[in-house]
Amino acid sequence: MKLYPLFANLTDRSVLIIGGGEVAARKCEALLGSGARVRVGAPALNQQLSEWRRLGRITHLPGSYQPSWLDEAWLVIAATNDVDINRRVAVDAAARHVLINVVDNADLSSFHVPAVIDRAPVQVAISSGGNAPMLARWIRERVELVLDHALGPLATLLEKSRRAIRFRHPDLNARRRFYDRVLVGPVWQLLRAGKSAAAEIELRCSLRQPHQPQNGHVALVGAGPGDPGLLTLRALRVLNEADVILHDRLVSTEVLDLARRDAQRIEVGKEAGNHHATQEEIHALLLQHARAGRRVVRLKGGDPFVFGRGGEELEFLRGHDIAYEVVPGVTAALACAAYSGVPLTHRDHAHSVQLVTAHCRESLDALDWKALAAPRQTLAVYMGVAHLGALRERLLAAGRAAGTPVAAVENGTRRDQRVIVSTIDELADLAQVHALRSPSLLIVGEVAAFAETLAWFGDAPLSAQHAPTPMQQSTPVRQRRIA
Ligand code: SAH
Repeated sequence: MKLYPLFANLTDRSVLIIGGGEVAARKCEALLGSGARVRVGAPALNQQLSEWRRLGRITHLPGSYQPSWLDEAWLVIAATNDVDINRRVAVDAAARHVLINVVDNADLSSFHVPAVIDRAPVQVAISSGGNAPMLARWIRERVELVLDHALGPLATLLEKSRRAIRFRHPDLNARRRFYDRVLVGPVWQLLRAGKSAAAEIELRCSLRQPHQPQNGHVALVGAGPGDPGLLTLRALRVLNEADVILHDRLVSTEVLDLARRDAQRIEVGKEAGNHHATQEEIHALLLQHARAGRRVVRLKGGDPFVFGRGGEELEFLRGHDIAYEVVPGVTAALACAAYSGVPLTHRDHAHSVQLVTAHCRESLDALDWKALAAPRQTLAVYMGVAHLGALRERLLAAGRAAGTPVAAVENGTRRDQRVIVSTIDELADLAQVHALRSPSLLIVGEVAAFAETLAWFGDAPLSAQHAPTPMQQSTPVRQRRIA
């Protein structure tokens, strides 16, 4: 059966729903949203429908089904759990040439309600011909991911400007090319940045000077710690639109696999020993690609503003008048804590959390160790692997108890995640016994001990003192302690 798709204008038109339960209420909600005048025929209404009746939003037709209820209806939905009533309504509706949907019964229905992605005034409707609503819903969830919410404001703006666009580009092909440019250019970027008024001005300007070369745009995007499931929807959308992706070494291949296939990828990662792009070279690349009118994604591990030099890159872009946006990512401290079962501010054990970097001796010297060593607070230490001994010394010298728990999370959220639970006193063992490697995050504080009991992802945590033999490799601390 091939269906004819249509979008109906039901404003102030009478629609009849038969049934007063949960399914009827769900159908009713969508119909009310479209401005229909809804009448609900049923012996009794559930709580939600009763509330709408009380508010005057629907009319209740009490009692059992009467064919006369159909008299003024443009559409009917039969949502009772009585097969015979549903069938009678279907026959009566057909006799009156009124379109009917019988919930979950494709054979009795003359129309189906599609699964809808709502970016009003844009709507995407998906139908499986009434045969496999679950499949339509599954497709809807996937399409939902790729369509930005700014599509609605874009459609409104285009509607408002339609006559001006038609006037400026009477030729259909020229008009198409104009629309294509709008969909990837600054108007779209401004709308996504929540700047409707600026987008309108930009659209008007581009109508006046349509042949100006387009400036590119840079999205500074947080790729999260590795697990692609931690990417934000916005990051995913931006990655799908990218012409060029400049990414750090820390960005996982699983995340890069989600980007547009034909986007150019440039690794600007920094790996000791190998050539790496300096910050100046990265700036130059950003400028070169943006000036060529490309949509550039600068993809960084974790969050771009947490020890990610995102601020410097934005200052540079601003200084060179390149448009940008920032998409946050899940930073290593939050991700590693979650994936090792460490509640960073468990209220019985910590009242604050601080993110610090132990990148080099100077960064260690710059820290206020007295403040960092206070009890009942959590430190998340980034880039600390090379300075475990120095960290230990300074925390102890500033008065933090030697037995304070530490959880080291290596390759957090990735398949090869390792969690090692120890204490400040044993910090140096992490390097010697376990050969802790970058990227690793250290969580220092009372809450770190929770990794022993609340860990859920990957192999169970190891303890600092014992080198893992091949057999012990995945033997958890708690099991060994019990043994
Ligand atoms: N902008 C990033 C941090 C960059 S600094 C963010 O917000 O996470 C690099 C440091 O981040 C690493 O040395 C390590 O300490 C930490 N890090 C990043 N990804 C990590 C991961 N998957 N597991 C453990 N630590 C990680």
